[in-house]
Amino acid sequence: MSTGNRVQSGLYKGTIGSLNFEARLDVDGTYPQMQFSLMLSNFSCHYIAHMQSVSDNKWEGDIWYRQNSRNVQFGNVTPNKLVAEYISGSTVKLLKFTYKRDNNDLWTGTIPRISDYFRLTEFEIDYEEGIDQWLTYNTNSLPRPTDVDDEELTVEKSFGRAGIQVTRSGEVNKVSGTGSGVDARWNNQELHDAMLANWSRNEGTLWAMWVFLAKQFKDDPESVTFGIMFDTIGSFQRSGTAIFSQSIADFYPPGIPNRNAIIQRHHFRTLIHEIGHAYNLLHSWQKTLGTPWISLVVNERGAGSFMNYPSRYPGGEDAFWRDFAFRFSDQELLFLRHAPEAFVNMGTANFGTNHAESAPTRELMQQLSNLDPNQATLKLELRVNKQRPVFQYMESVALELKLTNISNKPRSVDKTILKDVAHMTISVTRNQSETKQYRSYARPCYAQKEITLQPGQSL
Ligand SMILES: [Zn+2]
Repeated sequence: MSTGNRVQSGLYKGTIGSLNFEARLDVDGTYPQMQFSLMLSNFSCHYIAHMQSVSDNKWEGDIWYRQNSRNVQFGNVTPNKLVAEYISGSTVKLLKFTYKRDNNDLWTGTIPRISDYFRLTEFEIDYEEGIDQWLTYNTNSLPRPTDVDDEELTVEKSFGRAGIQVTRSGEVNKVSGTGSGVDARWNNQELHDAMLANWSRNEGTLWAMWVFLAKQFKDDPESVTFGIMFDTIGSFQRSGTAIFSQSIADFYPPGIPNRNAIIQRHHFRTLIHEIGHAYNLLHSWQKTLGTPWISLVVNERGAGSFMNYPSRYPGGEDAFWRDFAFRFSDQELLFLRHAPEAFVNMGTANFGTNHAESAPTRELMQQLSNLDPNQATLKLELRVNKQRPVFQYMESVALELKLTNISNKPRSVDKTILKDVAHMTISVTRNQSETKQYRSYARPCYAQKEITLQPGQSL
């Protein structure tokens, strides 16, 4: 396996006039995906084009992914191609990019290269007292695929090849096992508490995560958990992950050949796998769950990827380890390197909802952020019909919606607009717990009838 340094590929970032650009050119180095993603941050306008070489240091390709594209038009013309040209200066390396429509150049800019990597992230790794600090795996410990070199694999190397720079933050804390309670087995809430107590960053810090090497998870009798991305509670998700060395070791009976090496290999795979979940990667066989970020996403049961389970691999565990080159699949690399930031970044999009906030919510948020509150003519309130918004245990909760015309002109609205619960989503977040969304299954079909709200009048 070649480590292939990235020369032209990497992250380019710069401001031209008042416009902030971020570009990721992915054409050389480890596992090049021949993609170019270009984001105009001011408008969250994100394009991805599949590139082909047109000459030395120059690539061109069709745009196949667009987010908020209507914000970036050139005289009402929407680009359908991107060109990228790498310019190797003596001190600064530059990227010249061009938005094109067919054969016409629409707009060209030049920005500097700021990293060999596509994303820059920060991990803090803490240990439970008394466990082995396994963070590496030596590939010569066991038979390996022919394209895997004899080397010591690390977290930094594995993510570096995926195009993600990992730097370590904070002290290495020894976490007392008392946090896992009298049963000495961690549950999600205890792990979450340990993260809040030991992580030097705040939960929800972007591009940062807490990795906890612990002994054992509190499993039910039928299951064994090797690792978990436990952080699907609270308002920030995917900030924390844990790996359970005791459970991994106990899985392999004493006396089997190469037992220690097998345990360490499994531990290393689990470590990268759980961190992969924090980047919003799903299991190889479940890629199409929820709302994939692009419709091209496919399940890949037979992927030799960190995100697969050896036991689910066609041919079983032995076949997996014969084929697995300690890497992520191409479709995972495409997501990690080029998907819009909010989909990948820990602390943002909820896990499993997935790869992305749900499309309507994103669009709605975009529309809302474009609205000028001074131009609003209607006000919507959610309120409880009591003096204090506090309910007793088991008391049923009733909420009222009130729509008021706050303009100085009569305003016509649909009479049933507040009755039509099929178009409403209710999100309930418990303190220190997950957010649950409720949507009505009912699809009422009311006859449309407009009524007029006078200024100050409510529905
Ligand atoms: Zn998993």
